[in-house]
Amino acid sequence: MDFRAALPAAKGAATSARRHLLLASTAFPLIAASVAYLLVRTPATDAPNSIDLTALVQQQAPEPVDEGPDSVEVTVQRDDTLDQIFRSVGLDIATLSALRARPEVRKALDVLRPGDIITLTHADGVLQSLNRQISNTLTLSVARAGDGYAINYIENPLETTIIGQRARIESSLFEAGQKAGMSSRTIMTLANQIFGWDIDFALDIRKGDEFGVLYEQKLQDGRYVSDGRVLAAEFVNQGKTHRAVWFESKDGEVQGYFTPEGKGMRKAFLRAPLDFTRISSVFNPRRLHPLSGRVRAHKGVDYAAPTGTPIWAAGDGRIEFAGRKGGYGNAVIIDHGRGITTLYGHMSRFNKSARTGRKVNQGEIIGYVGTTGASTGPHLHYEYRINGQHKNPSTIPLPRTEIPSQYLAEFRSQAETALAKLELTSGTSGSERLASR
Ligand SMILES: [Zn+2]
Repeated sequence: MDFRAALPAAKGAATSARRHLLLASTAFPLIAASVAYLLVRTPATDAPNSIDLTALVQQQAPEPVDEGPDSVEVTVQRDDTLDQIFRSVGLDIATLSALRARPEVRKALDVLRPGDIITLTHADGVLQSLNRQISNTLTLSVARAGDGYAINYIENPLETTIIGQRARIESSLFEAGQKAGMSSRTIMTLANQIFGWDIDFALDIRKGDEFGVLYEQKLQDGRYVSDGRVLAAEFVNQGKTHRAVWFESKDGEVQGYFTPEGKGMRKAFLRAPLDFTRISSVFNPRRLHPLSGRVRAHKGVDYAAPTGTPIWAAGDGRIEFAGRKGGYGNAVIIDHGRGITTLYGHMSRFNKSARTGRKVNQGEIIGYVGTTGASTGPHLHYEYRINGQHKNPSTIPLPRTEIPSQYLAEFRSQAETALAKLELTSGTSGSERLASR
């Protein structure tokens, strides 16, 4: 509810989005057809909250600005003020003062951000019109009317369309997702918000793994703005299928990603406690276990990763130890309660907040990959212990949260629709087919 809304998407993004859309509708005509009715107009909500603009908002697009010789487009630079801009264009400052005196426009004129575009037209130094984008979805329009000025706020709402894509992994999750037209944000959502508790994206991804995603795209005047929420997703990892669907109850009490049966995707422990996107060649098995064989009775999992790769707390807990620990080098041990501890070794450095006794949340950065202690190359050594006994974190059954029973009927109807649409992406030859076009 302020003026800090994001600037419009860059032209490059718009171009590549058009390509995505084209691919989507070529490869998935069924989906393209089914999304037409889902087109949603979202009302603008970025108007200044101190003034009621209802009466001023028009639904129609503005009249095209006169592009004659007296039309000037100004891109706001750092520390610019409207006074300076008026002076540089040769406009009467008294006009600006008169406009500022009107409460419904003052804030929209005074708050400028670098990169804002202000379009001015004038005749002999007299302001004829001023247009200024307030947010992604709202434009201020000032136009000369009689002796004064008419002030309007024009809505240009975002449209939401729904896209289905499927991809097969040839070399990496990112490459496959991008070939299929997904943004990095959508790809990251799959790993960090949906499947990161079931799939170890650092070690377990294989060539031939497949994934399908149903997600929103935001458009404005048919132009791509950004990817929106992932609504449903499927990931086939080494032959095992994982599926998830987004659910938000009408009363807003429940929201998140759930299995088709209504169990939460989040669990108490992440499968891989580090940012896998920094790991380049995930398919070379020799890279994955640089020390196995060398260290006897190896009790942990090794993640080969470049020095400096962020290491995350695998679960909520309290830091029991952070410091130098023999062959582990710089190490952190987290106590998660109920006898469970995790250990992270060979760090190059600690995160500042990783101090003994401090509470940490799952996913919080505790330190960075390094090669301190008994280590031959940069990697994370990770251990998971229950009552001091080493366990393989991937084989420990972890309970999932469940949707409260009173929301199950609502969940099922939402989930069925989303999963049916996701289903339409399967049976295609995925990214290969898309990429060949
Ligand atoms: Zn190790």
